[in-house]
Amino acid sequence: MGWVIVSGAMTAPIDLAALHAGQPLLWVNPGRQERSAAVDRTVAEAIAGVAEAQARFDRFAPRLAELFDELRPAGGTIRSPLLDGAALASTVGLRAGRDRLLVKADHDLAVAGSIKARGGIHAVLEIAERMGGDVPGQAPRGRRIVVGSTGNLGLSVGIIARALGFDVTVHMSAEARAWKKARLREHGAEVVEHDGDYERALVVARETAAADPEATFIDDEHSRPLLHGYGVAAAELAEQLRDRGIVVDAEHPLVVFLPCGVGGAPAGIAVGLHALFGDAVHPFFAEPVQAPSALLALLEAGDGRPSVYDAGLTLRTIADGLAVPRASRLAVTVARGVAAGAFTVSDEELLADLAAAWQTAGMRIEPSAAAGFRGVRRLHETATGRRFLTDSGIAAHPERTTYVVWTTGGRLVPEEEHRAWLSQASHNQKDDLR
Ligand SMILES: *Cc1c(COP(=O)(O)O)cnc(C)c1O
Repeated sequence: MGWVIVSGAMTAPIDLAALHAGQPLLWVNPGRQERSAAVDRTVAEAIAGVAEAQARFDRFAPRLAELFDELRPAGGTIRSPLLDGAALASTVGLRAGRDRLLVKADHDLAVAGSIKARGGIHAVLEIAERMGGDVPGQAPRGRRIVVGSTGNLGLSVGIIARALGFDVTVHMSAEARAWKKARLREHGAEVVEHDGDYERALVVARETAAADPEATFIDDEHSRPLLHGYGVAAAELAEQLRDRGIVVDAEHPLVVFLPCGVGGAPAGIAVGLHALFGDAVHPFFAEPVQAPSALLALLEAGDGRPSVYDAGLTLRTIADGLAVPRASRLAVTVARGVAAGAFTVSDEELLADLAAAWQTAGMRIEPSAAAGFRGVRRLHETATGRRFLTDSGIAAHPERTTYVVWTTGGRLVPEEEHRAWLSQASHNQKDDLR
């Protein structure tokens, strides 16, 4: 066990050898109890930003309903269902019929088919509003939006920005799937393909945008509108819990498992939930064993931006949406104040859970979206996790806890890609039995 030094004090232990060896583990965030003034300020700003994002989504709802047929029934709001996860209880390590498991189904979000529909669309709406073209919510002529992406952010930004009349350039990292690029081109976006990782694609995207006076860059590593757009999902979840008669308070904790790439989506949601539920909510960030960028940043004191390569890891993962070498500093600062912790999952686990979600619940999710399903097991199987369950009162009254697994993408995935993952999962399973 290595002891992590945070702000001069020795805090929660983490098995650094296991982390560097790419083994699955769980870390509990000691900083949530003692938030520094700087973290407090960033959290407060983020909460205000999420409220602004909600108001902006409300203003644009009629316009979104006009632009996208699939949003019309809901009056232009972008919502996902909250599904009963009872069928998946034993898969995730809960007692079927005893423990409460729900699935927040962002894999089924309209327009962009992933959690990026909230953040990406909001970031583009913010630009459209700021630029104020002749028609409200319409891009002024000749304006371009530039974004770097592992796939889903480009898809989300590209689709909405083209619909509003922007020119769009998406810089795609090596992970990006061919179908996502093809789809964007169908929408009239320019797609620039890079051999390098996400960080390399971002550098080029940022530089070319800076050189073009007509271009606005949406910066996944620093963007407040992105983070705030993700955060509106918290109020949606709260309403859905209320509709089911589920109480969240000090005696009835809410534990949420959120797939994490640069950290914007999980941090935005976690801060939104924190604003509504305070310490009764426990958001855990889920990352691939070879790409724990947010965990590495959270383990460091201060504002450094450690990369997974420096930690001896490869970034190689089937979870393309989570394959980022460094986390967003903004997201990490927010996470320091509101995340309960972080855990890692292997590709084999991602595929097994992707297959289980399909076979037991008919949910078509992409590998990134499966990362949350291991959260319960990490809590049960690690000493750190068991201590958390005791300290949070969950161990004494497990039946009072609500677990939410956030599935973050999948709706637009072509059937043959999904089938290939299922077949890979069943090969892995056979190898295990041998
Ligand atoms: C982008 C993405 C995430 C994580 O969002 P970040 O803001 O990068 O942390 C999770 N799941 C899917 C499917 C994604 O595309």
